[in-house]
Amino acid sequence: MGYSLGIDFGTSGARAMVIDHQDQVLAEASYRFPDLSPEERTDCWQEILWALIGEIPADVRSHLQAIAINGTSSTILLCDAEGKPLYPPQMYNDTCDPASLELLTTLAPAGHPVLSASSSLAKLLGMSRTVDMTSVCYLMHQADWLAFLLHGRVGLSDDHNSLKLGYDPALGQDRSTSRGRAIPTDLVGYPDWFHQPPLNQLLPLLPQVIRPGSNIGPLQPHLVDRFGIPSTCQICAGTTDSIAAFIASGANQPGMAVTSLGSTLVLKLLSPTRIDLADYGIYSHRLGKYWLVGGASNTGGAVLQSFFSPSELTELSQHIDPHQPSSLTYYPLLKPGERFPINDPCLEPQLTPRPEDPVEFLQGLLESLARIEAQGYHLLVAHGAPPLKVVYTAGGGAQNIVWQTIRQRHLQVPCYAAQHQQAAYGTALLAAHGSPL
Ligand code: ADP
Repeated sequence: MGYSLGIDFGTSGARAMVIDHQDQVLAEASYRFPDLSPEERTDCWQEILWALIGEIPADVRSHLQAIAINGTSSTILLCDAEGKPLYPPQMYNDTCDPASLELLTTLAPAGHPVLSASSSLAKLLGMSRTVDMTSVCYLMHQADWLAFLLHGRVGLSDDHNSLKLGYDPALGQDRSTSRGRAIPTDLVGYPDWFHQPPLNQLLPLLPQVIRPGSNIGPLQPHLVDRFGIPSTCQICAGTTDSIAAFIASGANQPGMAVTSLGSTLVLKLLSPTRIDLADYGIYSHRLGKYWLVGGASNTGGAVLQSFFSPSELTELSQHIDPHQPSSLTYYPLLKPGERFPINDPCLEPQLTPRPEDPVEFLQGLLESLARIEAQGYHLLVAHGAPPLKVVYTAGGGAQNIVWQTIRQRHLQVPCYAAQHQQAAYGTALLAAHGSPL
């Protein structure tokens, strides 16, 4: 049995992880991205890709059977017929110009996930109105392009990266669902509204979309020679960094959820039912035979960080009795405006009354975040998601055991820190098993 390599290109760096047939980690390498000008990005990504693979011990590389890559969602490149980027990439947090978003609003259905200034389609439309498109043949996401460097086939993507490009996984269903099946050549999955100008001119640039984890093709021969990887090693369709982190958690049953307690509060719940509620920014990615339903709140760790240093968060938390609720009810936000679980663009931060004792204040904040998290899951369940069974936790807040106890009280289900939180691990699982569910 061979090994599987998952490669994560995240927001601040890249990481590679190799797992064996029992999903145990055999090797790991990582790099932080240096400060880069937009023009330097693709060359740097390519160098880091080779460096990561080069750091895997040769005796591990010689047993690789599958490789998959995840990238940041909505990071896109415009490439020529050979897959060479023609312009600097548009990054996940870049936005299109307001006029292009306004135009898109007249073309896509109200509330569609593409209707955000940072969506892949908004960026593509924006670029198509400002740069010379004569030589542009392919739109590629970051993960598509990096995988292309390995397998050499242009114009392929996965349905996770393509959701914010307008691809509808329900329209493109049941294509290339199993490992090793031939990739169909038709372009399905892009809805009818793509056939109106000016989107119809962009249609030929859009990738053919296949299931995350399905085989695309073997590693290119020159890389087989360079890295001593078997010529049979398959490159698989990838995913986005946040879905890879969900897969890494091991959540694999309806009702299992992952809360990310990072700068923001992000909820993802596995559901047999697809839920798209644009008003709340809730949308669903297909994950195996289920749907991964998610929502992101503007509240989260960034607010904690605005009041406390990391060491204060650790130290003060130890003085909180998680079983003795305070009477404080906050809505912690850095600035007005919330979308999920309350859709109110003008919602004011609620951070008073502020007790003098910082332990009490922190307790009020942690309880309030737990209440908002529970409210988020209730909203998903109220719209058809299954009842919560268990919540795995990722992100900087996952280490806080006191908070975990408070959250458990609010969520009424067991909460655990996810055993594996690295997106690279989730992507290695994807490479190893194809669709994880
Ligand atoms: P990002 O979303 O920026 O990648 P991380 O996953 O690195 O965020 O998490 C950073 C956040 O974790 C910070 O905003 C901080 O508030 C929170 N955090 C760090 N340590 C603790 C702690 N001990 N208790 C609660 N929250 C913490």
